[in-house]
Amino acid sequence: MDNRALERRFLVEGVVQGVGFRPLCARIAARVGVGGSVRNVPEGVELVLRGKLQQIELFLELLREELPPLARIDSLREVESREIEAKTVHPFEIGESRGEGNRGVIPPPDVRLCADCLREMMDPSDRRHRYPFINCTDCGPRFTIIKSLPYDRKNTTMAAFEMCEACSGEYHDPLSRRYHAQPNACPRCGPRLRLLSAEGKLVAEGEDALSEAKSYLARGNIGAVKGLGGFHLAVDPSKEGAVLELRRRKGRPHKPFALMVRSIEVARALCKITPLEERELLSFRAPIVLAEKRDPSLWPWVAPGQRRFGVMLPYTPLHHLLMEDFEALVMTSANVSGEPIAKDEEEIWRHLRGLVDFVLSHDRPIHVRCDDSVELEAGGKVVLVRRSRGYVPSPLRLELGGDEVVLGLGAEEKATFSLLKGSLLFPSQYLGDLKDQRTVDNYSSVLEHFLKLFDVQPDVLACDLHPRYVSTQLGEELSRISGIPLFRVQHHHAHLAACLAENGMAREKALGLILDGTGYGEDGSVWGGELLLGDASSSIRVGHLLGTPMPGGEAAIKNPYRMAVSYLHASMGERGLEVASALFEGREGELSILKRILERNLGPITTSCGRLFDGVSALLGIREQITYEAQAAMELEALCGDLEEADPLPYGMRWEDKGLVLDWRPTIEALAERRLRGEGKDKLSSSFHLTLCRALRDMVLEASKELGVRRVCLSGGVFFNKVMSERLPRELERVGLTVLTHRHLSPGDECVSAGQAVAAALRSSRTRG
Ligand code: ZN
Ligand code: ZN
Ligand code: FE
Repeated sequence: MDNRALERRFLVEGVVQGVGFRPLCARIAARVGVGGSVRNVPEGVELVLRGKLQQIELFLELLREELPPLARIDSLREVESREIEAKTVHPFEIGESRGEGNRGVIPPPDVRLCADCLREMMDPSDRRHRYPFINCTDCGPRFTIIKSLPYDRKNTTMAAFEMCEACSGEYHDPLSRRYHAQPNACPRCGPRLRLLSAEGKLVAEGEDALSEAKSYLARGNIGAVKGLGGFHLAVDPSKEGAVLELRRRKGRPHKPFALMVRSIEVARALCKITPLEERELLSFRAPIVLAEKRDPSLWPWVAPGQRRFGVMLPYTPLHHLLMEDFEALVMTSANVSGEPIAKDEEEIWRHLRGLVDFVLSHDRPIHVRCDDSVELEAGGKVVLVRRSRGYVPSPLRLELGGDEVVLGLGAEEKATFSLLKGSLLFPSQYLGDLKDQRTVDNYSSVLEHFLKLFDVQPDVLACDLHPRYVSTQLGEELSRISGIPLFRVQHHHAHLAACLAENGMAREKALGLILDGTGYGEDGSVWGGELLLGDASSSIRVGHLLGTPMPGGEAAIKNPYRMAVSYLHASMGERGLEVASALFEGREGELSILKRILERNLGPITTSCGRLFDGVSALLGIREQITYEAQAAMELEALCGDLEEADPLPYGMRWEDKGLVLDWRPTIEALAERRLRGEGKDKLSSSFHLTLCRALRDMVLEASKELGVRRVCLSGGVFFNKVMSERLPRELERVGLTVLTHRHLSPGDECVSAGQAVAAALRSSRTRG
């Protein structure tokens, strides 16, 4: 008998930790009869296989075939191979994690309930029948319950639940689907559902809590329902009065609410779902997807003035059980606008009392808040409106080199921070508007959590140029206390840097067409319609939209008709003001004040493209005042029809001292005259979108010819506009330019922290020579 065997040692890199990789190894080893071990190491996973050559080969074949859905092997390298005696082959085991601290270990994101667990939950003979906390190595809460690394049960919010014998058996059985599934639980040993009244009294537990909650909702009540990264406010969307009551209580008269729908079939019945949208809805991230309504008149109170619904599928077992009785439920973040999403009952009582009629809760704590991610499809690609649950904390691999840890502190309204660690970029989840103090507190604690989780301290800091951004002030304070160098990165440059870096072109030269609402310009004015030239390290401004005053500053953002008056005055002088009085009836008193401001050219000057959308929306009589960010622009977009049938309008373009200027005055004049002649809003919206795309294309093309650069990055919140995100790249490609867009980051201000980190990393390595 042959008493020789082999010991082969492999290093596996990729997404191999916390995704059921080690349990899979153990199961395959048991099947093919190899010994050895598998353990997490800083670089990934170390796999030792002991056995006959054919057994080892079979193991490797099966490993690739049966890779868990969330795992990915980037490389599998043999680092050692030697002969051993067959009798030294012991059963395969999962070894202790090795490595100083947590370097290289990436905690997994939260994963929607998998099909196997759903099947078990619906199986009357299963011991987890209708148990709302069922999970396995392929699914369940992750990022939001992890307190520290390594990712072991004792370091999660499940630590308080001691596994019963059956659960513990699964957890330790290499052949079980729940082998080392950290949140493993059952009705005997795990978290429990409970229903609380509006006053906070315990009404019911377990299955009773669920059925009570369903009947509350069916009667039109508003409930808080605990999810993965926070509570939702839930209400039946078919009940107008109930939804309007939620709007009243939340102080949110128009902002669209997301819908959770029972199944992909219901999603298809409500919306026209494209194959890409379907893929995203069904992905393990289970984001909200903004999809076109089938019946434009259905439930107008859910998303007023919009052609799309934000839909998502149930992603926790509790959601699945709740949705048994409803085809769709409004599921909106449980917060007051601007504040962080509520994550425990105490926060509900402290901040949302009076907002909810009942609370469907449980005793598995949420450690880190994480809002739902939001996506839309444009031109066959995913645009991330909000990169959050399901994405975080997964890194982007940027080919940057360097080993410094850089912290980008981000912008203000769609705050995020980003940690750059060598070639890996870790963007935080969406953290909300830093004008709110509780949001600032949450931002700080999530930052602290990330630094602890990844066991790093920044070597370099990066912030915006805006002196009054809270994120800037945090950066200054951190730098002052620690002595860590702080790099200030212009807002639109950060957009360009983020787009270049995620396309693997950080050191390449490109034009950057950055279209957004507000960013602090190098000259202190409000930028937002900018053409830059540079690489991810630095850039210069080579063009912009014509500037115009924002009458009353910030107030002009909330009152788009003020911008309309500004554009009209700039385009048509005295006649423009007459047009304004004809269009904005009942605002005569205010118009005379605006007139004085505009004639003296007071107020900050802006080149913002977002403001241009606002102004045109008001000019066309669509939205004069807003109750949520970008409302006027979104309602303008909602009226835009097929651009192939739209009439283009005139516009101007010329080189000035400060670069190429796109002059919208002829466009505004034409829109005003047509509006006065009574042309339809939808027709004029289409004309405006088409004209803007062509004007921007011509501006980029002219700069490209003059400057000899054929690559252009597109970034900024304007690319949440699907028409712009579809049409503009096509126009640019048609004239022979290479277009780079965001794929893994949001084009909005969430990407600013990433761009800051990249720019600072490049500048810092340059400084050191
Ligand atoms: Zn599962
Ligand atoms: Zn149990
Ligand atoms: Fe921006």
